[in-house]
Amino acid sequence: MTNEQVKDKMQDLIKLINKYNYEYYTLDSPSVEDKEYDKIYYELKKLEEESGIVLENSPTSRVGGQILDKFEKHTHLSRLYSMDKAQDYNELRLWDSRNRRTIEADNNSYPELEYIVELKFDGLTINLTYDNGILVGAATRGNGIVGEEILPQVKTIKSVPLEISYKGLVEIQGEGLMPFKSLEEYNKSHKQKLKNARNAAAGALRNLDPKVTEERNLTAYFYNVNYIEDSIFKNDSEMKKFLRENHFRVNDLNYKCKNLNEVIEKIEYIEKIRNSLDILIDGVTIKINDLRTRELLSYTNKFPRWAIAYKFEAKEFTTKVIKVNWNVGRSSKVTPTAELEPVDIDGVTVRRATLNNYDDIQRKNISLYSTVIIRRSNDVIPEIMGSIPSDDKTYEIEKPEVCPSCGTKLYQDGVHIFCPNTLSCKPQLISRLTHFASRDAMDIEGLSEKTAELLLEKLDIRDIAQIYELKKEDLLSLEGFKEKKSSNLIEAIEKSKNVELTHFINALGINNVGIKAASDLANRFESIDKLREASYEDLIDIDDIGPITANEIIIYFSDEHIIKSLDRLFELGVKPYFKSKNIDQDSYFYGKKIVITGKLSSPRKEIEEKLEELGASVTSSVSKNTDLLISGEAPGSKYDKARELGIEIIDEDKYNQLI
Ligand code: NAD
Repeated sequence: MTNEQVKDKMQDLIKLINKYNYEYYTLDSPSVEDKEYDKIYYELKKLEEESGIVLENSPTSRVGGQILDKFEKHTHLSRLYSMDKAQDYNELRLWDSRNRRTIEADNNSYPELEYIVELKFDGLTINLTYDNGILVGAATRGNGIVGEEILPQVKTIKSVPLEISYKGLVEIQGEGLMPFKSLEEYNKSHKQKLKNARNAAAGALRNLDPKVTEERNLTAYFYNVNYIEDSIFKNDSEMKKFLRENHFRVNDLNYKCKNLNEVIEKIEYIEKIRNSLDILIDGVTIKINDLRTRELLSYTNKFPRWAIAYKFEAKEFTTKVIKVNWNVGRSSKVTPTAELEPVDIDGVTVRRATLNNYDDIQRKNISLYSTVIIRRSNDVIPEIMGSIPSDDKTYEIEKPEVCPSCGTKLYQDGVHIFCPNTLSCKPQLISRLTHFASRDAMDIEGLSEKTAELLLEKLDIRDIAQIYELKKEDLLSLEGFKEKKSSNLIEAIEKSKNVELTHFINALGINNVGIKAASDLANRFESIDKLREASYEDLIDIDDIGPITANEIIIYFSDEHIIKSLDRLFELGVKPYFKSKNIDQDSYFYGKKIVITGKLSSPRKEIEEKLEELGASVTSSVSKNTDLLISGEAPGSKYDKARELGIEIIDEDKYNQLI
């Protein structure tokens, strides 16, 4: 391949990885399994290693998540990292010999290598800030430098200490998790089932409503002191002791090993007992115990060199397909689900599996009664990987001709089958209305899936705009709707008329346009009218909007029924407004990279927020890229470093004047 071809291939992979990252980190709703993601990620990494080319936007050189605007931001006192992975024991040994070489080449002496093997929890990283012994902040990892502030959500986790005995400034890293028991209980009493413990935990913590978090009964384990004012421990074991003494939950499956053989023994032990754990893990982590050695080995852009993860393989099982059900969803797509001969996997009885589409069925050669391989990693609903020959009589799975719900003749577009009856096919309408009312859309509290179903069935709502014509009396006629509930819903519907443009665009449910694309579109066009008039060229000019999405948008806004329905919404008073980010470019702080040190009279978080509002970015450590240091009382080593590098330093008075 020429360099140009390599770069093209890389861009394709990056695009796909970015899409998966967005679904996983931002939406907490991945569309592919980790194994599939890892395959594409390592393909990119291999290309980079072989060609020596690393594109500027490569996800291999930065830490995952995107930060949602709906949360306040928190700048971590010290960066949070991802973790390098060993695919097999050989890679583990290579990691070890690289470390040994670096240590041997250094002139100082270090203690004999020891490794800490512990669980790699599969949930959402949480980084807790304690100041003067009080829990003052809790954030997601975000991009490693800045995360989302989720303190009220984290406070719903009962085992997280609100107060600790250590009084200095400290940040503690751990993982928020949804125990399997909580997941099972939750699914018993909720119609909308949670498929996967990782996304259930991440989704709960990144929900604006702490009540939603509380309902999921999360837990958390802590494994790292990511920042501490005083250096009071020499190694990980002492750090864990500190965590326990301060009443953090630390998992007992935590071993000190003297060599790699011992490490491997522990990996195999944990793999054997992992099914008996009540929390989801996706492997183990192996870390060098001594902190001075860690300092020597240091970090890449993305992960520490002194730690590595060993991921467990997802397990594969065989069973039989006994039936295929076709269901229609919000986007009119009709998708198949396989009913399986029940099979017990890791203590869970699996009865159903996803099949994606008809092409997938053919490609994997799946028939009724054929024996299939299924893989369950974290998902409660697993995927069918393929079929294996057997002597059983099998029957071809027929492609449906008509909609399983409303009987309308279906049509095919690409690999998917659609029901064209968008106006009165019930499941489509219910999910469209539920999406329209959801939190990141019109945010109509009380308009759940169940209510949407009632509105459709009993009040004959056929077009979303009709909900703005509802009267309290209409609702009072519905089962379960008394005075208060009816007034509340009418009020919530009324309130939703005043809606932020991004949320409104998201509410429309245009194919391929989720909250991120909606936000891109809102920022570019600033009004719904301008978006409606946008040409294909205007649309693909936006960074993350590709030709397929651009086409979907054009098709959406040229549909006669949609135009009518949109106009009706506006006639009834729905009024999207655009909220621009009003950054004062003349501010002294605009565009500067700023570090804060020492004690200041207002909370550090408040100052950081103020600076960020003014277009500055606040980071935790001083480097040659830092523009300004704000120094309070009793500044630490950052002050000396800033002086050494000749960086501008101001005190709090000066800061107040400039603000
Ligand atoms: P990671 O899973 O590679 O590992 C680092 C993280 O592990 C840390 O940030 C921490 O949160 C966590 N962790 C858990 N236990 C720990 C312990 N004992 N010590 C230290 N850290 C611990 O994190 P990442 O970079 O966020 O994720 C990359 C992985 O996420 C991929 O390999 C893939 O499996 C998955 N992913 C999947 C998709 C998808 O679409 N399916 C998309 C993106 C990422």
